[in-house]
Amino acid sequence: MDKINILEQSREALLSDMQQCCIIDKPYRLDQILQSIYKNCVLSFDDMTNLSISMRESLSDRYNILGVREEQCWTSSDGTIKFLFELCKDRQFVESVYLKDKNNRVTFCVSSQVGCRMGCTFCKTGRMGLIRNLTAGEIISEVMFLWNVMKHDESVTDKFFNIVFMGMGEPLDNIDNLCAAIDKITNQQYIGMSQTRITISTCGLVDKIESVLIKFPQINFALSLNSSRQEQRLTVMPAAKLHSISEMKKILDGLAVKYKTRFTLEYVMIAGFNICYEDAAALKCWTPKHYLINLIPLNHSDEHQKRPNEHQITKFADMLQSFGLKVTRRYRRGADIQADCGQLFLERAESMRNNDTQV
Ligand code: SF4
Repeated sequence: MDKINILEQSREALLSDMQQCCIIDKPYRLDQILQSIYKNCVLSFDDMTNLSISMRESLSDRYNILGVREEQCWTSSDGTIKFLFELCKDRQFVESVYLKDKNNRVTFCVSSQVGCRMGCTFCKTGRMGLIRNLTAGEIISEVMFLWNVMKHDESVTDKFFNIVFMGMGEPLDNIDNLCAAIDKITNQQYIGMSQTRITISTCGLVDKIESVLIKFPQINFALSLNSSRQEQRLTVMPAAKLHSISEMKKILDGLAVKYKTRFTLEYVMIAGFNICYEDAAALKCWTPKHYLINLIPLNHSDEHQKRPNEHQITKFADMLQSFGLKVTRRYRRGADIQADCGQLFLERAESMRNNDTQV
């Protein structure tokens, strides 16, 4: 029988199952187990030394804690670590990234789907299509695994971490499982982390943002904008046909006022495509009251799309600033291990396909 993933279950469901199977005698035993997992990030029953050996054995026989297994990892010279995870359920793969800034503050970049159906042309995950949604337990497993990495990282003194849903997949295309995962991540009964440390990035499913904000009003959102000109945006983001830029802006303006929040606009800079004066001028409407523009120079160059050079990047940023816009730039992390979204998985999937063909 497949083991039950603990992270997938509610406290009530576990209590009933463990009592039925005579694994625990008293409910407080379950609280000890959940406390070890969610508060102390203990990821092996063997390490729960406050439980009897026979109880630990029974737990190991029936449950697993993580729904993912590390398949491979790559460490960058800047400290970024990219993990390839195999999903225990069906041996699909996703990637997650452990990022550290220059002050050793840690951010986990987490995936929400295997593949993605949004088809953004600058993203290799998009070329895979959607294979399946991650379950809530699998999303939490990524977080717990990376938290355990942080626990053993001696360069990190801050015990808090940030989470960005910017890995593989469109998070709002898997909204129920995403919210179930965030509920456990932020609920004091489980991990209990602050909502303000979580950012969800969407390629434009802005009509779904409010249903998340209703539950988690302090969560941050980033919109992957990449062009403020509708026709141009459509050429790189097929999802742009769901909402025009003016529709998106109207929805976001309303949410910014209602929830007293500010949105980040991610702008992937592609040479010869979206970094001329007209492109900058089209961004003027995204004023600093509600929006922060984060410039992301394209991570790679190929025959279709090229990364701008430093002069072009600075010139575009200066133009935006001269319009009074609030602009930041995202510097590359993990460039030497190709930690940009989806690249690793494609290589892995490709090599598996080749192996399959040979057999
Ligand atoms: S950028 Fe995000 S939404 Fe677009 S294809 Fe890639 S994973 Fe999907």
